[in-house]
Amino acid sequence: MRKLHSGMDAWRYLVRSQPRRKRRVETFLPLILSAAGALGVLPFTILRFMQGNWVAAFVDAVIVVGFIALGTYVYRTHRVRAASVAIAILCIGGVMTTVYVNGPQQVYWAFPALMAVFYLTRPREAVAGAIVTVVSILPVLLPGTDSHEMTTILITIVVMSAFAFAFSLITNRQREQLLQLATKDPLTGAGNRRGLDAKLTDVVNAFNRSATPASLVLIDLDHFKAVNDAYGHAVGDHILRSVTEIINLRIRVTDSLYRIGGEEFVVVLEGADLHRAAHLAEQLRTLVDANELVPDHAVTISLGVAELKSGEIPNDWLHRADEALYRAKDAGRNSTSLSD
Ligand code: GH3
Ligand code: MG
Ligand code: MG
Repeated sequence: MRKLHSGMDAWRYLVRSQPRRKRRVETFLPLILSAAGALGVLPFTILRFMQGNWVAAFVDAVIVVGFIALGTYVYRTHRVRAASVAIAILCIGGVMTTVYVNGPQQVYWAFPALMAVFYLTRPREAVAGAIVTVVSILPVLLPGTDSHEMTTILITIVVMSAFAFAFSLITNRQREQLLQLATKDPLTGAGNRRGLDAKLTDVVNAFNRSATPASLVLIDLDHFKAVNDAYGHAVGDHILRSVTEIINLRIRVTDSLYRIGGEEFVVVLEGADLHRAAHLAEQLRTLVDANELVPDHAVTISLGVAELKSGEIPNDWLHRADEALYRAKDAGRNSTSLSD
C-alpha cells in the first residue's frame, strides 16, 4: 500500500471535509452599517417627498441608494476594503450635504456617521475623515447655533472620536495578533496549514485572472522518525527549526514557507515556473545535506515540485506535488522529483 505522508493526508482530509465557503466575518460590518444607513435615512426620504421638499428628498434618496448599492457590492464580491472606504465616504458626504441642505440641526447625523467611519477605515484615515467632516460643516454650524450648544456639539464629537480611535487601534492590534496565532506554526514560525490554504486560494485566483505562473515545492525530512528515536524529540525540534532557517534564508520575498505536517513543509513560489522551482528545490536539498544538523548523522530532505496548471484547484496542485514527493522518496530519498 502507498505510504501516506501524514501532513498531506491530514490536509487533504481537511480540504475535502470543508463545508461550502462561509461568508467572511469581515463582510458583516459593512453589510450591517450599509443596511443601518439605508434604513435610517429612508423614513426622512419618504417624509421629505411627502412634504414636497424635493431637493432634500433627492439628497436622501441618493444616500439610501448609495448604501443599498454598496451593501449589495460587499454581499456579492466580498471586497470589504474598497466597499468600506466607499461607505465611509458616503457617510461623510451624507452628513455634509444634509447639514448644508437641511440646516445645522442635522449635525446629529455626524455621531453615527463618524462612528461608522472609525469602524470601517484605518484609525488614521478615520481621524482625517472626522476632521474633514467637522471643518466642512463649521460654516453652517457657527451662525446657526448658540455658542453653548456649539461648544457641546464640538466637544462631544471630539470625545466620541477619541474613544472610537482608541477602540479601533486596539481592535486592529488584536486582529493582527489573532491572525499571527491563527496562521503561524509556533515551533518554527513558518506559516501553518490554515495560512497555506489561504495563500493557495489567493494564488490560484491570481493565476485564473492573469496566468501568472506559480509553483509548489513540497519538502519532507527523510527518515525523521529514526532521527527522533536516536536523538530525542528536542533534537528533532531543533532540526525542524534549523531546516526552516535554511529554507527561509534561501527563498525570495515573493516565496512563502509553510509547515503542514510534523516534518513536512511547502514553499509556494509566486511568479515562478517549474524550472525555477526545481532549481530552488535542488538548492535547498544540497544545502540541508551539506549542513551537519546533528553530528554523525546525515539529515536529508526529499522534494516534490509542481507548477500550477490551468483549471486546477489548490487540492489538485498539492496532490501532484505530493505524488512527485512520493517518487523522490521512492527513488532513494535525498532527491527532487518534478511533476509534469
Ligand atoms: P520518510 O523518509 O518516509 O518520510 O520517513 P519518516 O520517518 O520521516 O516519516 P514518518 O511519517 O514515518 O515519520 C515522521 C516522523 O516525524 C514521526 C515523528 O517522530 C516526527 N515528527 C513529527 N512531528 C514532529 C515534531 O513536531 N517534532 C519532532 N521532533 N518530530 C516530529
Ligand atoms: Mg512526512
Ligand atoms: Mg519524513
